[in-house]
Amino acid sequence: MLVEDYRLEVFEPPCIPGSPTWSAKAFLTKDISAVIPYLNAVIKKTFYDPSTKTLIWREGNRRIAVRPMEIGATSLADREEAKKVIKEIVDLINSTWEKRNEITPSEEAKKPPTAMEIYKLLPKTNCKECGASSCFVFATQLAGGEAELERCKPLFTDDYIENRNRLMDLLGM
Ligand code: SF4
Repeated sequence: MLVEDYRLEVFEPPCIPGSPTWSAKAFLTKDISAVIPYLNAVIKKTFYDPSTKTLIWREGNRRIAVRPMEIGATSLADREEAKKVIKEIVDLINSTWEKRNEITPSEEAKKPPTAMEIYKLLPKTNCKECGASSCFVFATQLAGGEAELERCKPLFTDDYIENRNRLMDLLGM
């Protein structure tokens, strides 16, 4: 088994005081750099930086980041969900490592979207319905996996169908 032990920390995202969603980090006791190109090959719609061996993907609104010594996940309901989600990621890492002889590793790089790229597709009315003080602040939260896209209610009206679809694609949702 590649990941046998880790220290879990669960916390509220610091930039959204009072946010109902939690984030978690698992600090690993062993470097897992070697498995990351294999994960990049088996997981769809990843963002990958080969220079830092950072792999990011989304499951719905949840942003998952795997780094050589750390696993992170956002949009968690509570501590119990944090434990469950991190355990599922650890299981995925271990099963991928077990099957590595059947997988062609991928070093294909893809950058995650910037806040500005996300902002360009938001309604840009600064209506604050999402709870953020502006569309750009919300875009920053989305880029960091600290907000759910559904909080932007105007985006889910017929007026913004095209932007919404492009945004979901950009975010890898
Ligand atoms: S709800 Fe949407 S349009 Fe309104 S401020 Fe938030 S991101 Fe902007």
